[in-house]
Amino acid sequence: MADKKLSTFGQEVGRRSWAEPWKIKMVEPIRLPNKEERQRAMSAAGYNTFLLRSEDVYIDLLTDSGTNAMSDRQWAGLMMGDEAYAGSRNFYNLERVIQEYYGYPYIVPTHQGRGAEHLISQTVIKAGQYVPANMYFTTTRLHQELAGGIFVDVIVDNAHDPADLHPFKGNVDIEKLKSLIKKVGQANIAYVSLAGTVNMAGGQPVSMANVKELRTLCNGYGIKVFLDATRMVENAFFIKEREKGYENSSVANILKEFCSYTDGAWMSSKKDHLVNIGGWLAVNDQDLFDRLRNMVVVYEGLHTYGGMAGRDMEAVSIGIKEAVADENVRARIKQVQYLADLLMDWDIPIVKPVGGHGVFLDAGEFYPHIPQDQFPAQTLAAQLYLDSGVRGMERGVVSSGRDPETGKHRYPALELMRLAIPRRVYTQSHMDVTAEAIKEVYRHRDETLGLKMVYEPKYMRFFQARFEPIEKGAA
Ligand SMILES: *Cc1c(COP(=O)(O)O)cnc(C)c1O
Repeated sequence: MADKKLSTFGQEVGRRSWAEPWKIKMVEPIRLPNKEERQRAMSAAGYNTFLLRSEDVYIDLLTDSGTNAMSDRQWAGLMMGDEAYAGSRNFYNLERVIQEYYGYPYIVPTHQGRGAEHLISQTVIKAGQYVPANMYFTTTRLHQELAGGIFVDVIVDNAHDPADLHPFKGNVDIEKLKSLIKKVGQANIAYVSLAGTVNMAGGQPVSMANVKELRTLCNGYGIKVFLDATRMVENAFFIKEREKGYENSSVANILKEFCSYTDGAWMSSKKDHLVNIGGWLAVNDQDLFDRLRNMVVVYEGLHTYGGMAGRDMEAVSIGIKEAVADENVRARIKQVQYLADLLMDWDIPIVKPVGGHGVFLDAGEFYPHIPQDQFPAQTLAAQLYLDSGVRGMERGVVSSGRDPETGKHRYPALELMRLAIPRRVYTQSHMDVTAEAIKEVYRHRDETLGLKMVYEPKYMRFFQARFEPIEKGAA
């Protein structure tokens, strides 16, 4: 009632905005290079946004990995670093927080996510075994393949359609998984590799119902389920928003319930945990833990730091508690939604529903005249930088790499250009500038030609490949 009185001029308030649950205490200046500087920088970078210098970038949406802004509490935590080689107090803090929020009893720290992926892949996969997964992630699949695993995508078909509005496009297709198990036999499945909010599908979540069903199926066959928990906090928020029965649960409770249906998890803390570096591996099985803990000393560091400084472990522990707070996740996801809403208002093709960590432009739809082997998404990332100094990244044929059997490009159904939003770093004005830049690039789409690849490295080519623009008439 009081609200009614406050709304003056006889007007009802038309919208109620969300706001970040923090205010800004320190700023880092950024600069927009002029057009000539951008042209020079892009050409020096071989039209690959990974090869740009950060100083030449105005708004950096390359990745949300390790680009987070830490809180004053986390910075204070750095000062509490216990840099003992063995038994650092910060490790025990981290262990306790992971046990509390993720629920796994045994923790192995690693320097970042791929350190954990390496350990679990080498320890659990026997050469020739299959690793079914809800789509792939670049480093995850590579480590599984390097360990001799055969990757099989068992995500629901909806995930491959950027316009499909299914609320849980990250779900495992239980029937696909069942038929794989029947075909190859349960002994030939290393484990199910399940990712929360599937990055390569555009940040799409997995439902609680799906993970429960997966658990039941795998129990029947004695197959383990390991979780890529990197963006599981965002997944938990989507469950709260979209899945019946969870509206009134906290993100923290949903997260813990979800993890309880899995046998362990690996984590890149550089995402959800609001830090710049860190990761871990956590499992329920003590024997497996012993093996992992023995491996970590070979590749990462002692089992009470795993490649992280004590201070970094402290920042992760504090970050986990901040990350799971409902208002933190809400502000993060709503900022992504804000950018997406602007683009949708202007009919710019993006992946829907909007994912948790960024907006994915549908480059195939954006540039229908550029064939996939002329890299539409790579082209879009280059054009956006040239227009405005905004940096995004390719998630299409370049990222997919080559088939290890045939040596041919893997042509993914999704040819996307990702704008990942770092957590707590940019304001809504930065989102406005970004959206307007995309609108401008879209207006000039018909004049834009594709790229040709002139250098291709062996592993994860999207990081270091170089391109040249295709000249008019040459294609
Ligand atoms: C980033 C990421 C990884 C790898 O983690 P790093 O910390 O970059 O090594 C693994 N899985 C997913 C889903 C990721 O987003």
